[in-house]
Amino acid sequence: MPMYEFGCPNCGTVTTELCRMGENGELLTCVDCGHAGLMKQISGFASFGLSGGTGGGSCSPGCRGICTGCH
Ligand SMILES: [Zn+2]
Repeated sequence: MPMYEFGCPNCGTVTTELCRMGENGELLTCVDCGHAGLMKQISGFASFGLSGGTGGGSCSPGCRGICTGCH
């Protein structure tokens, strides 16, 4: 199963959960403040591809989204 990160909109705590495809975090509760309803964080390659411009040309091979010394 894929792992997703969920962020608490109340306190900002991020938790990582194993969950089904399509899980959106509405049923999760913040471990820190108890706020119900977390927001799924877009993480990994996809988000950096989206934020790195069009065509994924801004990151060098092997960057893996860390971008240290990349750009
Ligand atoms: Zn919280």
